Amino acid sequence: MGASGYAVPACRAAALACPARRAARRAPRRAAPVVGAASGDAARTSDRVSNLQNEGAYAVLAKATALEREGRDIVHLEIGQPGFATPEHVVEAGVSAIRGGKTKYAAPDGAPSLREAIAAHVSTTRNVDVRPEEVVVGPGAKPGLFFPTLAIVNEGDKVVYPDPGFPTYRAMIEVAGGVPVPAPLRADGASFDMAKLSDLVRTQKPRLIVLNSPANPTGGVMPRADVEEVVRLAEEHDAWILSDEIYSRLVYADESDDGGKAFSAISVPGAKDRVVLVDGFSKTYCMTGWRLGWAVMPEHLARKVELLAVHSYGCVAAFTQEAGIAALVGPQDDCVKMVAEYRRRRDFVVKALNAIDGVECPVPEGAFYAFPDVSAFGKSAQEIADGLLYDAGVAVLPGTDFGANGEGKIRLSYVGDTATLEEGVRRIKAYFDGLER
Ligand code: PLP
Repeated sequence: MGASGYAVPACRAAALACPARRAARRAPRRAAPVVGAASGDAARTSDRVSNLQNEGAYAVLAKATALEREGRDIVHLEIGQPGFATPEHVVEAGVSAIRGGKTKYAAPDGAPSLREAIAAHVSTTRNVDVRPEEVVVGPGAKPGLFFPTLAIVNEGDKVVYPDPGFPTYRAMIEVAGGVPVPAPLRADGASFDMAKLSDLVRTQKPRLIVLNSPANPTGGVMPRADVEEVVRLAEEHDAWILSDEIYSRLVYADESDDGGKAFSAISVPGAKDRVVLVDGFSKTYCMTGWRLGWAVMPEHLARKVELLAVHSYGCVAAFTQEAGIAALVGPQDDCVKMVAEYRRRRDFVVKALNAIDGVECPVPEGAFYAFPDVSAFGKSAQEIADGLLYDAGVAVLPGTDFGANGEGKIRLSYVGDTATLEEGVRRIKAYFDGLER
């Protein structure tokens, strides 16, 4: 059964029916001991979490902060967090909601007024009819990725996802018991290598395909034709699509395929029944710490995801949701100015990187990341990232933090102000100019 059903696969049904196999499934196998915990069984974690990796940005930030404590001056280009403040009218709405007593439990799937605003917003921006019952609000976009995956993927189901791609994709697939099937991107990182993707879908028959456009880490914006082709493949092989559109408002092309916007899988006629669209407030309204995002999905799936919300985080803070309404329906000037400024910063950073001998940086059309190829220096991405941090005092992420296909690349985030970016690229140039090739 595919995108519209929840049949238990035969292998899982057999495992559930057989006591010996059930016991074997319960027995700790490869789980790692927990450092600092009691010995024996109590010291073991489940298989489900044994392969979980941290997001690279946190690890690099920790290393950079340790260096700063030793007195080193570090330029931070590793963080994917907007440098601007949350718009004032949004802050005001949140603060007055707290003062007005919006401090109690709220509906697990989100306040009806916010879900209405999101449904209207998605209907307009994605040119599709969305009802509030199809919207689930969460603390950030991440639950919109994780919980629908838990609700769709059965043990052993294949999930195709972009590599290099946002590290949460692999984590959520593994926790759900799915089998990660990394799909390589084309050379400029703007989209999948469509021939390989098509081959993977045909041979692996995934239950779910993950899209991310505009993308982290490449900044790529998928051409409309490629999104349409992914939908066609999903229909042909009865797969779900999880479309992570958290950077939907950060698109810089004047004349992209869809008039300066990223094209969404949910906009393809007839696709809505198999698409989960994830977006939120973190990047568009500089609200990373407010924890507010949403996912749009078929209503039957929304009700299951709502139950996962009930039993995990319960609900999103009611005052945060009031701020979200203000962000969506209020003035958009701050967002428009921010996009123009990011575009200026992108142009500066990409030009400066391409002026360095041996560095090749495609022009990213969205998000706020540059993902240059530095393979010409004959070192691994990790060696380059470590060299830049320890020798040049610039924190960046190795491409391999986003999957094996990120080898030879590094990710820089250009959210910093002009002075930070100028100093960052000056140090990067000095570092690479000093390397032998
Ligand atoms: N999806 C992508 C591609 C991201 O880069 C991020 C954050 O960096 C998220 C989702 C998570 O967004 P949020 O902070 O709203 O949970």
